[in-house]
Amino acid sequence: MAIKKCQKCGQLFEGRGHTCFCQACREAANMEKKICPYCGKEFTPRTVRQVTCRDKTCIRANSDKLKALALEEKRSVKIYNMRRCHDCGLPTTNYRCAKCWAKIRSTHTYDEEVDI
Ligand SMILES: [Zn+2]
Ligand SMILES: [Zn+2]
Ligand SMILES: [Zn+2]
Repeated sequence: MAIKKCQKCGQLFEGRGHTCFCQACREAANMEKKICPYCGKEFTPRTVRQVTCRDKTCIRANSDKLKALALEEKRSVKIYNMRRCHDCGLPTTNYRCAKCWAKIRSTHTYDEEVDI
């Protein structure tokens, strides 16, 4: 912690890192008006995370975008989790590839479905 001078109101405050504004000014900045990226209207966010105006269409558009992003993330995690088949070395998301599992399953004497 270091004593800093707020660049906005000039008050001394304790802050760490790159903080150059006191708590009050930072909070005020968070409440400043933003421009909705979907309709271009000005709005006052209620929370720091609010990025669109309160228009239903814009909220919807944004949540669609977030959903797409989440999907994209899921996909990249899947790729990241790509493994290689223990038996034949082909890329797979499982311990063995589907082919090798089928091979193993077919050699089983019982007909029970084993969930992997
Ligand atoms: Zn300040
Ligand atoms: Zn909007
Ligand atoms: Zn295999």
